Amino acid sequence: MARFHLRCIECSHKYHEDPQRLVCTRCAAKQEPGGTIRGVLEVVLKTLPTSWPHFRPSDPEYLYAFLPITDEGALPSLPIGDTPLLEVPRLRLELEMPNLYLKDDTRNPSGSTKDRASLLVVAKAVEYGCDTVATASTGNAASSLAAVAAAAGLRAVVLVPASAPIAKLTQMLSYGATVIPVEGTYDQAFELCIAACDRFGWYNRSTALNPFTIEGKKTAAIEIAATMVPNTPDVVLVPTGDGVILAGLAKGFRDLEEAGLIPSRPRLIAVQPEGSAAIVRALRSGADEAQAMPEATSVADSLTVEMPRNAIGCLTEVRASNGGGVEVSDEAILNAIPRLAGTTGIFAEPAGAAALAGLDAAIEEGLVERDERVVLMITGGGLKDVAAAARAVQIPEPVEPTLEALERSLESYRE
Ligand SMILES: [Zn+2]
Repeated sequence: MARFHLRCIECSHKYHEDPQRLVCTRCAAKQEPGGTIRGVLEVVLKTLPTSWPHFRPSDPEYLYAFLPITDEGALPSLPIGDTPLLEVPRLRLELEMPNLYLKDDTRNPSGSTKDRASLLVVAKAVEYGCDTVATASTGNAASSLAAVAAAAGLRAVVLVPASAPIAKLTQMLSYGATVIPVEGTYDQAFELCIAACDRFGWYNRSTALNPFTIEGKKTAAIEIAATMVPNTPDVVLVPTGDGVILAGLAKGFRDLEEAGLIPSRPRLIAVQPEGSAAIVRALRSGADEAQAMPEATSVADSLTVEMPRNAIGCLTEVRASNGGGVEVSDEAILNAIPRLAGTTGIFAEPAGAAALAGLDAAIEEGLVERDERVVLMITGGGLKDVAAAARAVQIPEPVEPTLEALERSLESYRE
């Protein structure tokens, strides 16, 4: 018997599992070129665990319990997830927030939350007998797919803007992916990937379009909730580009509530850069759909999208959670990198540090109270974009190897 079916988030039509099916046929008729994905499908598991499993969250038994996997043996042999929920005492003191936590997803194998989605998509590709998985990506999803595909012995084809940070490009190539830098934006790479998968018969991992990307990312919510038992988080702040990480967290908390494992769901707050804020603007205006932001730009490359591909699902989830959205400047994002690193020991890429910048804005706007249980999703590590992080620090001049020169240099730190 099938363990799950797929349900359209727009019209609720149900579909059986089918390797060829990515979106709802009815709603796909409304698809506009370059627009948000119409007819995004979500996984509905027939049964969910009614008690917390006695395994580590990265164990195949744990993943099988919560994810739509048919064959446990299809899971790549690469431990993903099971990242710490940190209590960050110094940042708590600085912000006067005694119940602040960081979900440190920089510790995934390729250094970002995207590994959670890649794990499930690659497992499904193995189940379906596909030997090539492709994705469009701003960078992290591509390096993540490349890593997980390497562990599983599949070919990864990744289409990324040629402007992607060099560390991410180097990562993908080192993992052995077929890397196609596209002269254009992420949005253009996304459309090209759809056409290429149609032409060459590749399995498409592109975020939002593949229903298993949202489903895979829900494991972060499950881990947060499991770590906090008997408490539950009040608010989770989520750096947001296409809206899939937020939708994945929302799906995880919904599944847990349905299973009776948590009494209520947290409010979800989308954090976007000012230069790429289509979802937050739709939240503010009350619109059902996001309007594209042509020429979207931000220092947080992972969050830079003209049209968020999962805008419909993301807007629905934020509103259903009674959450909200905040915009943050590039300057605030850059300043948050050393602030986060210097108080917690966690070095995040701009997109990850955006969660901390977003917290300041959310407090100011009254979306978060200081005594609430607040979780910041730190979605990617700082080594992925050192050039951006370097803009927020000053590398000191070299000194002669003498004590006198050292003392003079130390003086500058006292200023
Ligand atoms: Zn539909």
